[in-house]
Amino acid sequence: MKELILEMEEYAKEKNIPIMQKEGIAFLMKYIKSSHVKNILEIGSAIGYSAILMASCDPEVKVTTIERDETNYMECLKNVKKCGFDNKVNVVFQDALEVNLAEGTEYDLIFIDAAKAQYRKFFEKFQYFLAPNGVIITDNLKFHGYVGKSNKIESKNLRQLVGKIEDFIEFLNTNEEFETKFYDVGDGIAISARKQNEK
Ligand code: SAH
Ligand code: MG
Repeated sequence: MKELILEMEEYAKEKNIPIMQKEGIAFLMKYIKSSHVKNILEIGSAIGYSAILMASCDPEVKVTTIERDETNYMECLKNVKKCGFDNKVNVVFQDALEVNLAEGTEYDLIFIDAAKAQYRKFFEKFQYFLAPNGVIITDNLKFHGYVGKSNKIESKNLRQLVGKIEDFIEFLNTNEEFETKFYDVGDGIAISARKQNEK
């Protein structure tokens, strides 16, 4: 397992695949363990790095992870098999915005780590599959330090992408149903939970 994780880190570096930073994944794993999270939905599997590490937190943890890129999906499947997690990690090959989850499915943790420009869409779609005390965690809210400085970015594409992340942060900050805390770990992580005294 440890060796496979190292191999995955190497592979991601070589192929420029943005897997979670060490500090970020450690934070996520600590949260899963301390909050007794069992059922996880991940948007954006890449090669299965975060899915496998999350699944390893407890024998009872199960992860459903969605990936739309075929090469990453195949690599993810391979890695899940390698560590014997076939029964713990369910990899779905589809665009997350097109996935139809069975009605009534509930997750304790929904981890959003796919196309940054679509975070709000993912949040709005998958919030209905969150268990009453569940949380939605989003990654890369600092986006390598660019967030908050989008007006100074020269490249139009990058400026637009960072602008989208800034809009998403604003969406979280003004959300009436969810309360969000931001953490300055890894590339910036947010934990959103349903506001408690609201009906
Ligand atoms: N969570 C992974 C890293 C994910 S990188 C880890 O830390 O190990 C982001 C991944 O999201 C990429 O593989 C990309 O193909 C995928 N992705 C982006 N938009 C998506 C979408 N709409 N549906 C499914 N997967 C998506
Ligand atoms: Mg990420």
